[in-house]
Amino acid sequence: MATEHKKTEQVVVGICPLCGKPVVGKAKSYQCSSNKFHKNDDGEWEMTEGCGLKIWKTIAHKKITPKIAKTLLSKGETDTLSGFKSRSGNEFSAALKLEEDGSVTFVFDDQDDDSEDEEEE
Ligand SMILES: [Zn+2]
Repeated sequence: MATEHKKTEQVVVGICPLCGKPVVGKAKSYQCSSNKFHKNDDGEWEMTEGCGLKIWKTIAHKKITPKIAKTLLSKGETDTLSGFKSRSGNEFSAALKLEEDGSVTFVFDDQDDDSEDEEEE
């Protein structure tokens, strides 16, 4: 029961569809474990290696749960999710899609968005 070694537990949410490596939960995003970063002198992080797959943990004010990330990784897209908020403060619903370059985009099903008067705590 030695607890000397301090191992940062990384939560694997799925397998990267781009390169097959595990995708792990970081502080602000879920990222492919192949991604390597280097901090520049000006404090900016630059990706030096890896396939680039990254899913932000918060997208348009909505929390992206590991479950959503997992679906995104295994299916390439999610069902329509509600609770997103635009910059102007309007709530909207959209599905998320994982693009081939490892970025995440919104998919809007139709124009029939009736979530305007949705009351949520
Ligand atoms: Zn990858």
